[in-house]
Amino acid sequence: MRAAAAQTGSFAVPARRTSTGFTAALLRKPVAIAALVVLIVLVVAAIAAPLIAPYDPIVQDTAATRQGPSWVHLLGTDSLGRDLLSRLIWGGRDSLGGVALAVAVMLVIALPVGITTAYAGGRVDRVIMSIIDIVMSVPTIIITFAALAIFANSMTAAMITVGVLASAAFARIFRSAVLATRKELFVSAATVTGLRPFQILTRHVLPHATGVVLVQTSLFAAATLGIQTGLSFLAFGPPPPAPTWGGMVADASKVLATHPWMFVPTGGVIAVATLALGLLGDGIRDANAERFTAPIRTRDLFQKPAAVDSVVPTVASPLLSVRDLSIGFGEHSGLTVVDAVSFDIAPGEIVGLVGESGSGKTVTALAVLGLLGGTGRITRGSITFDGLELVGDLRALAATRGSGIGYVSQEPITSLDPTFRVGSQLIEAVRHHDRCSRAVARRRALELLAAVKIREPERVLRSYPHEISGGMAQRVIIARALAGRPRLLIADEPTTALDVTVQAEVLTLLRTVQQETGMAILLVTHDWGVVAETCSRALVMYAGQIVESAGVDDLLDRPRHPYTRALLASNPHGARRGETLPTIGGTVPSPADWPVGCRFAARCPLAVDECRAAPIPLIEAGPARTSRCIRIDALITDTAGGRP
Ligand code: ADP
Ligand code: MG
Repeated sequence: MRAAAAQTGSFAVPARRTSTGFTAALLRKPVAIAALVVLIVLVVAAIAAPLIAPYDPIVQDTAATRQGPSWVHLLGTDSLGRDLLSRLIWGGRDSLGGVALAVAVMLVIALPVGITTAYAGGRVDRVIMSIIDIVMSVPTIIITFAALAIFANSMTAAMITVGVLASAAFARIFRSAVLATRKELFVSAATVTGLRPFQILTRHVLPHATGVVLVQTSLFAAATLGIQTGLSFLAFGPPPPAPTWGGMVADASKVLATHPWMFVPTGGVIAVATLALGLLGDGIRDANAERFTAPIRTRDLFQKPAAVDSVVPTVASPLLSVRDLSIGFGEHSGLTVVDAVSFDIAPGEIVGLVGESGSGKTVTALAVLGLLGGTGRITRGSITFDGLELVGDLRALAATRGSGIGYVSQEPITSLDPTFRVGSQLIEAVRHHDRCSRAVARRRALELLAAVKIREPERVLRSYPHEISGGMAQRVIIARALAGRPRLLIADEPTTALDVTVQAEVLTLLRTVQQETGMAILLVTHDWGVVAETCSRALVMYAGQIVESAGVDDLLDRPRHPYTRALLASNPHGARRGETLPTIGGTVPSPADWPVGCRFAARCPLAVDECRAAPIPLIEAGPARTSRCIRIDALITDTAGGRP
């Protein structure tokens, strides 16, 4: 148990709150604050109605009917000369009170049911889910009318009914939110460290699910307000002359042709309240997303790394420039998986990023796009694109994604949503960047499909992802990445999932697109054949560091790092019939076990004590090439290995 806990310790249990608290994140959203203020004003006004309403809401003044706004009646009067402002303030009690009641009923049922069923799993889960399915199939409106009939038009009964019936759908949503969080690595880690289920629930699972709960609650409140006012519009609920928002709209609608003004404040207050609830939900969702993907604390940016490399693989006027990039996972991002990586990419250049699985290639690519998932954070360093710093600047990132940097992920098929046609996903991407009409976007989508050499673009556009082949899907993904006309394409093992002939076609395609558009490509791969055919320069990564960089010919013919040499020697493309392929003995050390000195030393035939003593810096290993090896001289005279 101890050992297990120690092993996962570095992975486990992120800080309960990151430095950006939820409230702080929400308070940075002006629209959400405005929505919140509007809602607070409406609620406080309704509560304080007896104190602030200028008139009695049911007192009629037959001398002053259907008036427009004036100093005497700020929002005018209705058909019986009653003050509209006072009636709206009083009406808020029933309308907002009804919404609050329905929301409370929904939460009281849905939260415990959702959490319990997510946690219990197994048979309990199945039984509860079946009940939920049955309740969800009940038509809410009809049952609500039945409740109104039984309980003598009581709006309270109607709102309780709405809350009860809606709780089924929401229990389902909350169950998914809890389930999703339960599957996160840090929750399993917390379990392994011996925390009790209740502690895990309150400390790790629920904070992550709060966002979902709040968003869904505000959306449900907006929907309920619609039902509530709709029912009072239909003259259910409190009988006249009691003021209700829906009833007031009904009154206004009768004289809409002759006195349109009356409709403005009555309809307006419902519209404003609904909009405020929706916008608040949006704000909460964004704030919650930021809380758990907070990119970086800026002060960390200026921390000095342990050993900065004095030479880095640079180019004269880079498009992308990565400096001292470190990435951590787990509690306080304490487990470093990418360590002070620096490199540049020039406009129009194709650069390979090579290394065994687990060396940090994907994580590096994701960090450039600001897409580190889970507990991943950039803990140090800078990433500039076209001179613009991306680290810690969500706005710069958002502006860069897609139109500056395109991304083709490691898993092509799963990056298409199975529930939408290829066409709608592609057109969505085009419209996001071009802000054009659907027809124009469709034409461009067809051009893009033609550009990636799809022969029947019309048919593919109409297909669902499961109806097209893997190679086709990969082309669609590339087409989608090209929709924003990116100047840099990051392609993470774009051909790994494809068979050999399709691989070759996709690579040719990437090269053609590159030549036609002049975009740069960062091509992540572990295939030397791909590097040799496609790239002009390559970076070799090992255990979170760049260990060698050079022009492709230099790298393939004269590797200057024992790791590169060993990788090349174990390359199946160079294999000869009848000979066993040499493999690199041992495995890549996991980030928790990186040694102090050279990380490859344990597997290196040339390693000496000096290699293990201290961190090895990148050194110049010839014109425009670097290596993280102090035994280059021995490597050059050593005849074993190299490209066969
Ligand atoms: P590559 O793409 O080179 O195969 P990755 O970038 O996927 O390697 O992974 C680099 C390291 O980061 C690995 O040690 C991996 O275990 C770790 N890692 C990647 N994603 C996560 C994650 N979500 N949580 C914790 N560790 C991760
Ligand atoms: Mg990878």
